[in-house]
Amino acid sequence: MQFDLLSHLPQAKLIEVHQRLCAVYGCPIPYFHNLDPLSELISALLSHRTRNAQSGQAYRQLRQAFATWEAVRDAPTEQIQAAIAPVTWPEQKAPRLQAVLQRLTQEQGEPLSLDFLADLSVASARVRLETIPGVGPKTSAAVLAFSTLRRRALPVDSHHHRVAIRLGLIPKQLAVGPSHQVLEAQLPDSWSAQQVYDNHEILMLHGQRCCRYRQPQCDRCPLLDLCPYGQTLKI
Ligand code: SF4
Repeated sequence: MQFDLLSHLPQAKLIEVHQRLCAVYGCPIPYFHNLDPLSELISALLSHRTRNAQSGQAYRQLRQAFATWEAVRDAPTEQIQAAIAPVTWPEQKAPRLQAVLQRLTQEQGEPLSLDFLADLSVASARVRLETIPGVGPKTSAAVLAFSTLRRRALPVDSHHHRVAIRLGLIPKQLAVGPSHQVLEAQLPDSWSAQQVYDNHEILMLHGQRCCRYRQPQCDRCPLLDLCPYGQTLKI
């Protein structure tokens, strides 16, 4: 299919991008977590503005220090802050985590769990998750897609968002939050949860490894003929 036709058919273009990047990064991409949904939510909240290595270390330290999420909720906040010290802004994240756990207790009771999300549609589960302070579309999608729920939801991180703008899949003025709905609407209905997960992972990996924020490596990019931004850099 030619570029000019693809440029008018966002879904066709997204599928072509997906197939080419799958060939490069190897689909299906293995899931990197096997956490229950509440644990995935805590992990996601720790990861905001923090590198994966640091948020992973903080999550492990928190799990080692406290046997249950109820124990995290009830501990002195300084102890939570100490356990999650590797993340960015532990002094803000510690009370926020405890507030989330307290709120879930009020709403759902004990034992603390988000396993009930399995009984909701993806749309309802996302609405429910986004009632939690600090949970936006990226986190709600991550909880549903990355946790053991393995639902069909598309998180969009900053790499994914940048690559999608450069490829012309979304307008450049569209912020990360609203881009979730637009990019998800471009996915074929027939795609499985694994394919949706792959789509997020390969666009993120491409942003990290090739389409970097500074000096994108367009000369070795398999998407150059599809990419308006890359074409402008060539001139
Ligand atoms: S051609 Fe360049 S700008 Fe376009 S996706 Fe590839 S690396 Fe990014």
